[in-house]
Amino acid sequence: MRGWRPSHPGSDEQRRRANCRAYANVYLRRGKIHRGPCVDCGVDPEDERVEMHHPDYDHPLNVVWLCVPCRRDRIREAAEAGAAEAAEPEVIGRKKKEEEEEASE
Ligand SMILES: [Zn+2]
Repeated sequence: MRGWRPSHPGSDEQRRRANCRAYANVYLRRGKIHRGPCVDCGVDPEDERVEMHHPDYDHPLNVVWLCVPCRRDRIREAAEAGAAEAAEPEVIGRKKKEEEEEASE
């Protein structure tokens, strides 16, 4: 995220989501919330990458865990249902960068 936000401030909604995820990541690193199995298919986080998903960005600690394929399905379903609000295209584009930052910390 460093080096990204200043030149790509995004919409208020994107900022709200980014803040929410940043908040949850801090709690994750501090051990306040714990990675769990994918809530849709039950895959273990030891076996597959399982990511945080926020059903409600007003509650950063209300996290559900989804593996990459299940999360993609949810996003696509939401997009197909016309819920642009839930489509989150920016998440997919930025994921690689966040992984690199996590690895360096
Ligand atoms: Zn899954």
